[in-house]
Amino acid sequence: MILLDGKKTANDIKEEIAIEVVNLLSDGGKKPHLAAILVGNDGASETYVNAKVKACEKVGFDSTLVRFNIDVSEDKLLAEIEKINRNSSIDGLIVQLPLPKHINEMKVTEAILPEKDVDGFHPANIGRMALNLPTYLPATPAGILELLQRYEVETLGKHCVVIGRSHIVGSPMSILMARNNYPGNCTVTLTHSRTKNLNEITKTADILIVALGKAEFVTTDMVKQGVTIIDVGITRVKSDKTKSGWKLLGDVDFEDVKNKCSYITPVPGGVGPMTIAILLKNTLLSAKRVIY
Ligand code: NAP
Repeated sequence: MILLDGKKTANDIKEEIAIEVVNLLSDGGKKPHLAAILVGNDGASETYVNAKVKACEKVGFDSTLVRFNIDVSEDKLLAEIEKINRNSSIDGLIVQLPLPKHINEMKVTEAILPEKDVDGFHPANIGRMALNLPTYLPATPAGILELLQRYEVETLGKHCVVIGRSHIVGSPMSILMARNNYPGNCTVTLTHSRTKNLNEITKTADILIVALGKAEFVTTDMVKQGVTIIDVGITRVKSDKTKSGWKLLGDVDFEDVKNKCSYITPVPGGVGPMTIAILLKNTLLSAKRVIY
């Protein structure tokens, strides 16, 4: 079994980006600049946004964090997005999800200029991805592709099963794994909560990508010998063994399945750090005006 080490790979990518920033500056360019908007003070969202801001510092980017109270109006949030859209010193803008119920997430996503949508969630960028045109790929699926590529995992002709069909992970992942590309060229089965006989399907997977948000859902009886497993899930559970009082669990029962796997990602230290590395990569692409 080979561990797909997302933490190490993400650090490698960050080092590569940091070198590019130095080169940009020595060529007379400016530092890439990422803006993040956080609404409310949900613990998990705070952790993710802080990790993104810290990652910006590490690679030499500028970052701006805009905070709003949980009861901010949709209009006020949209006005801030418009302001950042017009600010030519900012290359990338992300709005940390989920948003409170009174705010329409799709309206917010569509308000971000596609040129600054470094999360790759805007319908224009999702469409470009589906058509295999240059775009900002959604960070989590793109991070998974990068991990497969850097570990040289064979994908051509393989059966890839994706569990979960969210707009940010499962659906784009299924499109990317089916593309005529490397990584890609898989025969893809996209499964969800209405899928019948899920175990029978997952047992035929050469590559299993799990993104449903249910801790330790995938167990050894659901997979075949030699499978590659990518565990996207992050569930915070209380723990009296950690300083913080909680720990992270993936969607896969790692200890149960690991001996059957050719490759597997851990949680934490797998897909999570890769997501942040790709966000930085997309921001660099925006600063260099590579896509638009
Ligand atoms: P989501 O929007 O909640 O979607 C979950 C998907 O799983 C849905 O498509 C749902 O089906 C499907 N599902 C639920 N129960 C199922 C079951 N019993 N069998 C088969 N499919 C089932 O989730 P998400 O935003 O994609 O996130 C999934 C997980 O990944 C979460 O733990 C999240 O925290 C984590 N995540 C991690 C990263 C990272 O950087 N590592 C990034 C994003 C998300 P229906 O469509 O039928 O409801």
